[in-house]
Amino acid sequence: MTFSSKLLIDGALVEGDRTIDVIDPANGRPFATVACASQAQAERAIQAAKAAQPAWEAAGWSHRASLLARYADALAARAAEFADIMVREQGKPLAEAKAEVGYTIDFVRYFAGVLPHEQQLDTADTSRATLFRKALGVVVGISPWNFPLLIPAAKLAPALLTGNTIVLKPAPTTPISTLLLGEVANDIFPRGVLNVITDQNDLGDFLTSHADVAKVTFTGSTATGRKIMASAAPTLKRVSLELGGNDAAIVLKDVDVIDTAQKIFDASFFNTGQACLAIKRVYVATEIYDAFCDAMAGHARNARMGSGADESTRIGPLQNRQQFEKAKHYLEVARTDGVIIAGGGYRNDAGYFVEPTIVRDIDDASALVADEQFSPILPIVRVRDGDDALRRANHSEFGLAGSVWSADVTAARALARQMQAGTVWINQHLNFGPTIPLAGAKQSGLGVEWGELGVEEFGQVSVINEAVAA
Ligand code: NAD
Repeated sequence: MTFSSKLLIDGALVEGDRTIDVIDPANGRPFATVACASQAQAERAIQAAKAAQPAWEAAGWSHRASLLARYADALAARAAEFADIMVREQGKPLAEAKAEVGYTIDFVRYFAGVLPHEQQLDTADTSRATLFRKALGVVVGISPWNFPLLIPAAKLAPALLTGNTIVLKPAPTTPISTLLLGEVANDIFPRGVLNVITDQNDLGDFLTSHADVAKVTFTGSTATGRKIMASAAPTLKRVSLELGGNDAAIVLKDVDVIDTAQKIFDASFFNTGQACLAIKRVYVATEIYDAFCDAMAGHARNARMGSGADESTRIGPLQNRQQFEKAKHYLEVARTDGVIIAGGGYRNDAGYFVEPTIVRDIDDASALVADEQFSPILPIVRVRDGDDALRRANHSEFGLAGSVWSADVTAARALARQMQAGTVWINQHLNFGPTIPLAGAKQSGLGVEWGELGVEEFGQVSVINEAVAA
């Protein structure tokens, strides 16, 4: 396999002033060396985006949309390559990598089809007011390592559609998928419209404080989100922050235990638990607690762990050593604070493997329940009823998403409305798509991504208010 290894700056694929070794998380060894930008190259990328922006905006919505549609086709033509790269650098099982490629193409196609939106406002007869949105200018998109293709693509598409230009920066442990996004784009978009640079976790502040950057769209941890807000404040940049989550699932006593356990297992261990929207704590009614825990433990014991390249793998490695060490710490917490009924081990030889682990008889004061642990370890907490579960679920600084599981949809809806989260699912979890806005509540984010509301965040609200002759 050859890898896309160059930065995209001002329409040219270029070497970096530095390099990054990319590690295969399935064996812990470097398998590729790719370009890493210096601060001077980051500056060139911003200046290229700034120079390209006026003509790109002037080219018009339908032209930009048509290039995005071509881009979706070009991504689809290289779908297999994208999936293989993600397995290699991110560690996820091939089926999940293929699904991420599919989502990426769907998202880009969806944004290519969004129409511009102008609104006539209600005014007195003597004036006529029109609301529309203008491009903001240069956008910086910063993404994490868990979905290295979908997240940057879902930032660049609405940014470009609305006439902005963009500089993307992926996480240093998963640069290749995003560099390939740039390589494919280079045949389609005018120079400077899309730029892709990488770093060693050290260019974030430079990008987010830069006076020529109008907006930062960020997905990553809450801690980094706070730093970005501070760094963007002196220039009053627009910021959209999609941050950490600690999604709760509330399981009422009337569910079909076997069916619900299967679905909750899938939504918890997706991407080896490294998904912002994965279920990370489960609150189960006492009447079905034992049966539910047993069913979950059965799934965990049967889930095959291994390299994502092996088609029978269900649980891949953790993405990087830091995350692996973090998961090992939480295994200790699980051992101290609860009862491990499946998993509990990790591989010490090669790669960053932690067994899918189910923990019962744990209190939600434990760090395993309260923190965003982002690993394949799932705590299951016993609750009296839905109200007890709701109180505990809401007792969190996070508010990304959650779910309620019950045969009584009316009761489930009532609880769902009271959950302090941007998205609440009923009898499902992790059902997302490009038309559905994603907005984190509380410390899980600021602003909206995806859907038409997400597109609007890339525009400056502008009103023309003209006098009308009587
Ligand atoms: P992270 O915050 O450590 O890093 C994310 C990105 O920010 C990386 O590209 C990193 O290089 C960059 N960065 C680091 N310091 C920076 C700074 N000072 N200024 C600007 N950028 C900086 O997050 P991570 O560990 O890569 O990803 C995991 C986190 O992402 C989890 O908290 C997870 O919940 C969150 N996440 C959220 C969503 C969502 O939609 N809400 C989706 C996926 C992941």
